[in-house]
Amino acid sequence: SLPPIVENPRMTVIGTGYLGATHAICMALLGFDVLGVDVDSSKIAALQSGRVPFYEPGLSDALSEALASGRLRFSTDFAEAAEWGDVHFLCVGTPQSKGSDAADLTYVDLAFTELASRITRRALLVGKSTVPIGTAARLTSLVQAVSPAGTELELAWNPEFLREGYAVKDTLHPDRLVFGVQSVWAERQLAAAFRPILEEGTPLVVADLATAELVKVAANSFLATKISYINAMAEVCEATGADVNLLATALGHDSRIGSRFLKPGLGFGGGCLPKDIRAFAHRADELGVGQAVAFLREVDSINQRRRVRTVNLVEELAGGSVRGLRVAALGAAFKPNSDDIRDAPALDVARMLHEAGAIVTVYDPEAMENAKRSYPELNYADSLAQAVEEADVVALLTEWQEFRDADPDDLAELVAHRRIVDGRHALDAADFRAKGWEFRALGRPANP
Ligand code: NAD
Repeated sequence: SLPPIVENPRMTVIGTGYLGATHAICMALLGFDVLGVDVDSSKIAALQSGRVPFYEPGLSDALSEALASGRLRFSTDFAEAAEWGDVHFLCVGTPQSKGSDAADLTYVDLAFTELASRITRRALLVGKSTVPIGTAARLTSLVQAVSPAGTELELAWNPEFLREGYAVKDTLHPDRLVFGVQSVWAERQLAAAFRPILEEGTPLVVADLATAELVKVAANSFLATKISYINAMAEVCEATGADVNLLATALGHDSRIGSRFLKPGLGFGGGCLPKDIRAFAHRADELGVGQAVAFLREVDSINQRRRVRTVNLVEELAGGSVRGLRVAALGAAFKPNSDDIRDAPALDVARMLHEAGAIVTVYDPEAMENAKRSYPELNYADSLAQAVEEADVVALLTEWQEFRDADPDDLAELVAHRRIVDGRHALDAADFRAKGWEFRALGRPANP
């Protein structure tokens, strides 16, 4: 007979960053009592006072609503979490290690042991962080070793697929749920924790721990590969005079291929795709199957080369060198509708242009504070208009709607020279050219 299932489990969320804060807020909105815990007391204070400490559309309102419902609170106290929770979701960061491609599991190990060592009741520990295959099995032993004698703890893995920019929608209405479990009890207890989402008919895949871990890194690897595939074709286009935009459109009409994630441009960045494919390749090496995913290193190289190519396009437009010239860098976040600048292609390009001697002025609608903190050597403008003022070259690096909407005539009034590099295929090249701009885009002919 199975141990009892708590039908309306009390939940904790350990690690309240992008993933954890969103998960905690959404679970409270779904009707559960939730306690969010983080080691960062300023983050906890912000959330408890109703302020989301990062930019995510809709999350601020969702936080207010969840707090007002009385079902959500935040704390830095692991003992309180350990005593209170029936289901604990662990959402701490797994960044790339310094000096290696491997994932840094320090935070995961710490969070699991800090919590498990304090739990004296039956509970389910659910990892949501993206981890190398085999981590959950290792943590199972670790948790057993540190938990007080007789405690009935079980560990499961529930990888997360939310996209920044759509985090609330993706959490409340995911494409699918994946449960990596070691028992029928864990499967049923997790199902109770996700009942409102499962009742919507959301597909559920119940798997072992290793498969659950692998689903996440395999999915991110596929997406990264699709982006780098079209960007590899852009390189071929550049050598042949072909147009990668037309190519992507034509390929995308094939329903077996599909147009999503087939957008050529400056490539991927952020806190997930780059570090996840590197950690996966690294882990595969350790497992003796490195050859199976050796292509991921190519995917990474193709992606890095797009950044260099973008710098080269700016230099080309500037007549060979950017030394002493003003470049307006439009965008800093790794993608629109986010303030996340982790491994952001835009800032990498801005940095390279700065190192090549350009006077780079960055503007981003949401990521300015983060960018200033990490790249104090760059100049920052308070608006799009201020960024492009007297610019010798404009480079569009993150496709915010504000940049897409920019009028070539209005911009022309402000710049020193009408030269623009569209790193994201976000602008109407013909329109800009008709209005006197020299226009360059990745994978497209300079003079069609
Ligand atoms: P993040 O850096 O925004 O948040 C991590 C949080 O964990 C921070 O607030 C940090 O203070 C906290 N933390 C660190 N050590 C802790 C500890 N011992 N105890 C409690 N809290 C601790 O990172 P994120 O973007 O939320 O990512 C978290 C995990 O989720 C990563 O593994 C990531 O790959 C994965 N993920 C992220 C996304 C995304 O879009 N951001 C999507 C899917 C999966």
